[in-house]
Amino acid sequence: MYTIKSYQFAQSLDEACELLQKDSKNAVLGGCCWLKMGHKKIRTAIDLSRLDLSYITEGDGKIYIGATTTLRELETSPLLQKRFGGILPQCVHNIVGVQFRNMATVGASVFSRYGFSDIITALLALDTSVELHLGGVMPLEEFIALPPQRDILKQLIIADDGRTAAYQSMRNTATDFPVLAVAAGCLEDDWKISVGARPACAALAVNAAKLLSQGASAEQAAEAAAKELTFGDNLRASAEYRRLLAEVLVKRAVQQCREEA
Ligand SMILES: Cc1cc2nc3c(=O)[nH]c(=O)nc-3n(C[C@H](O)[C@H](O)[C@H](O)COP(=O)(O)OP(=O)(O)OC[C@H]3O[C@@H](n4cnc5c(N)ncnc54)[C@H](O)[C@@H]3O)c2cc1C
Repeated sequence: MYTIKSYQFAQSLDEACELLQKDSKNAVLGGCCWLKMGHKKIRTAIDLSRLDLSYITEGDGKIYIGATTTLRELETSPLLQKRFGGILPQCVHNIVGVQFRNMATVGASVFSRYGFSDIITALLALDTSVELHLGGVMPLEEFIALPPQRDILKQLIIADDGRTAAYQSMRNTATDFPVLAVAAGCLEDDWKISVGARPACAALAVNAAKLLSQGASAEQAAEAAAKELTFGDNLRASAEYRRLLAEVLVKRAVQQCREEA
């Protein structure tokens, strides 16, 4: 059980960040779905819900998703259903259940960089940046390589570039964490292949993407992706099983992308 000593509705992101920096025991709250699984003793809980950060909007050739947007809002967004082969709504569909997805937030999901993250896997196959209140705007790929930060994720910014995309995951049971997750994104010759739940955090298969840009088959790219990335064991699957699965899921995602294009 987690405990909270004092609770504050932040009036601005500046105030929220100042509170966060003031004491290592202060914490920002998202939907609290992950926090309540742990035993954190929070001195001041910082609630962002009055900062108008729940939105999915488009403008200037970009799509903006605010930090407190819930996974369910992502899943049911008419805008996102029409973009990138609908991979953002699809990738959250198996996360626990509707009530859960009505609580869990996009900002916490990305900021926490969970290895099993379906959302990071899908976002990485698109041209995605994160905007941190202190750290500013940076590509998602750069953000996930950084050490943990005392900062607040304000929004995601995705290039609305007409990329076709496909998402694949394998789970032992329908709503369990993924054993492996794969996303492919393609804009003309520019490919991105992302593999998550390895069980480490999602990573791009750069060689596989390069091969695809040069006209390689889905099978060749899948083989390259399985070779270039590292995989590990956990209670859900062995590294070897994940490597075999990667070959199958990458192949399917690339084929699906090509069919849609
Ligand atoms: C049982 C269970 C099963 C799950 N299964 C999956 C799955 O299959 N696939 C998947 O992708 N995900 C899964 N998740 C993760 C889930 O989708 C959310 O990512 C997770 O619950 C965090 O979201 P939250 O809003 O509940 O965050 P919280 O629990 O509120 O916060 C989590 C952390 O993020 C910090 N935080 C919150 N908001 C921000 C912000 N804007 N900026 C900076 N830091 C912030 C908090 O301080 C805390 O450290 C699962 C989670 C649980 C509990």
